[in-house]
Amino acid sequence: MAHASDTRAQLDRWGAELHARIAELVALCTPEAVGEQRGLGEPEVADWHEPVRYRHSVTVRGSRDPSISPETLATRAADALVTAGWQVSADSGEPTESAVTVVGAAEGSVVRVRFSASSTVVLYSGETAALALSATPSEEPSPVRTADDIDPGYVLCYECSGTGWCPVCRGRGWVSDEIRGRHRCPECFDRRVCPICVGAGELAIARLSPVQRANYVHLPDTSK
Ligand SMILES: [Zn+2]
Ligand SMILES: [Zn+2]
Repeated sequence: MAHASDTRAQLDRWGAELHARIAELVALCTPEAVGEQRGLGEPEVADWHEPVRYRHSVTVRGSRDPSISPETLATRAADALVTAGWQVSADSGEPTESAVTVVGAAEGSVVRVRFSASSTVVLYSGETAALALSATPSEEPSPVRTADDIDPGYVLCYECSGTGWCPVCRGRGWVSDEIRGRHRCPECFDRRVCPICVGAGELAIARLSPVQRANYVHLPDTSK
């Protein structure tokens, strides 16, 4: 597998190309909206399923000169995309009742330009393909306590074995979900820490309840 930095560089290259194409289309069709486009920021999550995948996306809203028809602008936009090496889908520029839309694709990225037929609104949107930036995005956190550094008079928490983290989500705050990729941890509700030791990883022997004490067979029985 490629290094995470290579993958990120690839994603940013696609993002830069996407931004450049949309900037060109905005300048061509609705020049007054040129300043509306934000720069290439951090990629957004496209899919929460493991490994989490990220993409860049752009949305710009402009307003066309009312004297130039949506069809004319759609033809210009499609020509500009083709000149830049993008594939323009066959039904691009086909007017419907509400709009004329041009769709271009390159390297998994997609650009859509929608020219409203009922107003002067032109909506530019696009996103790159999605990439996993790390093969191990959800490493388990290291334990807060181990048998080697436990405080005198304490035992490792029986619930989390000293990790201090919620044993259901392992400190991530979410659990895998087949449909959505993730959902909030039903045990800790995103508090992330173990419900028994509240993150300490250890419990004071003197404050153990009899039920808790039953988890530690090596402790002397003080109930008699
Ligand atoms: Zn949890
Ligand atoms: Zn615990």
